[in-house]
Amino acid sequence: MPLALAIVSDRTFTPGDDATESPEQVAFRASARSFLSAHAEPRAEVDPWQVSGFPDDDEARAYFEHGRAWQRTLATHGWAGLTWPTEYAGGDHPAWAERIFSEESSAYGSGPGFIGATIAMLGPTLLAHATHEVKARHLPSLLNGEVAWCQLFSEPGAGSDLAGLATRAVLDGDEWVVDGQKVWNSCAQFADWGFLLARTDPDVPKHRGITFLLVDMTSPGIEVRPLIQANGSAHFSEVFLSGVRIPADQVVGEVHGGWGAARTVLANEAAFIGRGGGAPTSDRLRDLAALHGGLEDPRVRQRLATVISREKLQALMGQRIQSAVRNGHKPPFDPALTKVMAAGTRVLTGNLAAELAGPAALVGNDPIGNWVRAEVVNRFSISIGGGTTEVQKNNLAERSLGLPREPGIDRDTAWKDVPRS
Ligand SMILES: Cc1cc2nc3c(=O)[nH]c(=O)nc-3n(C[C@H](O)[C@H](O)[C@H](O)COP(=O)(O)OP(=O)(O)OC[C@H]3O[C@@H](n4cnc5c(N)ncnc54)[C@H](O)[C@@H]3O)c2cc1C
Repeated sequence: MPLALAIVSDRTFTPGDDATESPEQVAFRASARSFLSAHAEPRAEVDPWQVSGFPDDDEARAYFEHGRAWQRTLATHGWAGLTWPTEYAGGDHPAWAERIFSEESSAYGSGPGFIGATIAMLGPTLLAHATHEVKARHLPSLLNGEVAWCQLFSEPGAGSDLAGLATRAVLDGDEWVVDGQKVWNSCAQFADWGFLLARTDPDVPKHRGITFLLVDMTSPGIEVRPLIQANGSAHFSEVFLSGVRIPADQVVGEVHGGWGAARTVLANEAAFIGRGGGAPTSDRLRDLAALHGGLEDPRVRQRLATVISREKLQALMGQRIQSAVRNGHKPPFDPALTKVMAAGTRVLTGNLAAELAGPAALVGNDPIGNWVRAEVVNRFSISIGGGTTEVQKNNLAERSLGLPREPGIDRDTAWKDVPRS
């Protein structure tokens, strides 16, 4: 049997069939199943061709709030922050709890959407770098979706070179006064709070003069301007900050030492993007191939097999990282690797979807055509968001392979003396 067909028809494995699970794990799985069957939407009831980019603002907000409501349900029933400390509203479960819950959830269509991404980025960062007061104030409302967050990192002149950022924060009494501009801030138009990087000491090299601040998005002086994309939706915004005052106790980590917390966000973002799991896109590709008569074509089957194998590998890599981190160990390999892999898979998926559906799909307005268009237009989003593939490969070369560092002409120069346009 050709590899593609063998994999496509491998649908009989049920999570939990593995007889090596301990009685505690078996009981946990049963309890997760019973919670999910009572509260989650069965995948069959969710439109499989649904896309998350909506040209209509109200629909986009409704989708965002739908995710928030699911996060609230998870928290209400004790299924959010499974491995976080109970002190901060978590469940204090062992690392395997997250894996089992995500295996059980994959049969359902409910998910936290973008809220899940911010929990994955900000939660571990606050746990590792924030004071007890900041953790106690922000972690429970992050976890139950009551407060939605956005990431205020990138700037018009600082994306890949994030540490070169120019947004200034100056201490005035017990408040920071922030002026500058951020860009590409996902879901900023729906967020209640933002986590922000600002330059607080321009007299030292760029990585050393940055402070990590938490800002209430309703603060006077914040203007959020949604950016309309090629597909008509506004996934991200520009955020302008003019004289925004942030209480000094909303700093995460050391003043001027925010780069450490920023790196924790970036590492968790890369791991989250590359984690795999969830609804496999290959299912839709297989349906698309069946619809257009391509399932018998060995070239299509081979490409489907590649996507399916990559999805499965990504899920396993993601599980290994999550399991290590939750057990207090270093990731077994650089999380950037999973993101590079996920980015490559997304491009393969978009290309195959376009070829299977043909040009007609790109002009129609039916749900399948909309899905194909979203896959094509968005196929490079993961290659850019959360750090570009080129930059991730640089990081992998330096951090994992020990290759010589990129020449950094501005690494030891005070930020204010670095030439910039
Ligand atoms: C879907 C999506 C969501 C995003 N969400 C957010 C968000 O919520 N918050 C936020 O702050 N930002 C967000 N971003 C912004 C994202 O982090 C930046 O777009 C990304 O870091 C790249 O920065 P840039 O766009 O300025 O490109 P640039 O840094 O200008 O890069 C341009 C090109 O040059 C290449 N390049 C740059 N430096 C190097 C190098 N040293 N070696 C080799 N090649 C290099 C890059 O790979 C790229 O191809 C998002 C982006 C996307 C696409």
